Amino acid sequence: MIDPARLAFDIDGVVADTMTLFLDIADKKYGYGGITQDQITSYMIEDCLPIESSVVLAIINELLEMSHEQPLNPVDGAVEVLSGMAGLGAKLTFVTARPRRRAITQWLSQAIQVPEDKLAVHATGSFEAKAQVLTEMGVIHFVEDRLETCFHLAEHGIDPILFARPWNRKPHPFIEINNWEELKACIAGL
Ligand SMILES: [Mg+2]
Repeated sequence: MIDPARLAFDIDGVVADTMTLFLDIADKKYGYGGITQDQITSYMIEDCLPIESSVVLAIINELLEMSHEQPLNPVDGAVEVLSGMAGLGAKLTFVTARPRRRAITQWLSQAIQVPEDKLAVHATGSFEAKAQVLTEMGVIHFVEDRLETCFHLAEHGIDPILFARPWNRKPHPFIEINNWEELKACIAGL
């Protein structure tokens, strides 16, 4: 069982359903309709989707700025588990490669219905910087959807838990969960 005090989370693709929002913006704002998440077979979106790279960049920029009109929704089951953890008295810790923490922290607070002072949100600006932040906070287990980041974390002594998504379907040695229900079953006290 996982000690909730030693567990932290990536945000995009794990707590926030960012890829659905990406496709929603691509469809409604740029006219790229009919693309499904299953087609996103790599984190390099330009490599797997028939969307012009300038549009991909424009959408990613909107996602980072959080200037989009369409809603960013939580991944199914995330709110229940995270608010349950908050109810155990655990501080909820998130480490994102986003460059800025302000807007995404507000989003988390509203989505999970937990005050911002109960959230520890670290925006590292790079995937490679996550390991050091996690180590400094005493985190052992980290839920992540980018497989390359999982390998990097493991090399630095963090135990990655891979959230299975269409863009990380490659062989790996890590614990894998398919949804938040499966994660919940591993957390002590929930
Ligand atoms: Mg992610």
